[in-house]
Amino acid sequence: MRVLLVEDDPTIAARLADQLAAAGFHVDRASDGERAWQLGGEETFDAVILDLGLPRLDGLSVLRRWRAEGNAVPVLVLSARGSWAEKVEGIEAGADDYLAKPFEPAELIARLRGLIRRASGRTGNVVRAGPLSLDLFRATATLEGVPLRLTPLEYRLLDMLAHADGRPVPAGEIAERLHGTDSLDANAVEALVARLRRKLGDGVIETRRGFGYRLAGPA
Ligand code: CA
Repeated sequence: MRVLLVEDDPTIAARLADQLAAAGFHVDRASDGERAWQLGGEETFDAVILDLGLPRLDGLSVLRRWRAEGNAVPVLVLSARGSWAEKVEGIEAGADDYLAKPFEPAELIARLRGLIRRASGRTGNVVRAGPLSLDLFRATATLEGVPLRLTPLEYRLLDMLAHADGRPVPAGEIAERLHGTDSLDANAVEALVARLRRKLGDGVIETRRGFGYRLAGPA
């Protein structure tokens, strides 16, 4: 598996590159945003680890450029601890997962593997919820038979709601199940739901004030 590591801190980058290599990844490195953007356009990666604070072009701009160009490579963003504004911006820019600094390399590697696994297709089980249909092994979804282009994070949220059988899922529970404690908060969940709603259209995800989010029942 080939990953692009975008990190301008040479000490962190060298340490991470060693750990990723030891875990079996082929690692390419970029230490500024311009170079990362170029590499992402020229080469094919299974995933990208993207620091946000970068010289020449910041991480969010790199991500926005890739998405605007139709580059759907799975991106794990490294954000400053506790910065919900960064997470909201990152989600809106098209990030698939987050890790707050400082982090354990083992967690980064586990997240990365999950991201790649979800993005790569496997055939399998299908779950239906109203007009939605989710293929659990391929991690794809359709709405009234039309394929949806979802990021892994959006897919995981949809998967969670589909498995709740109409029960409203509180934002806190979504945050915890998507990310473990502390790395995603209510604002970021709200941004993620808003982004998913733009793809699903009105009325598919309902907000029940004080209870959470649920999928609307079959029409
Ligand atoms: Ca940095």
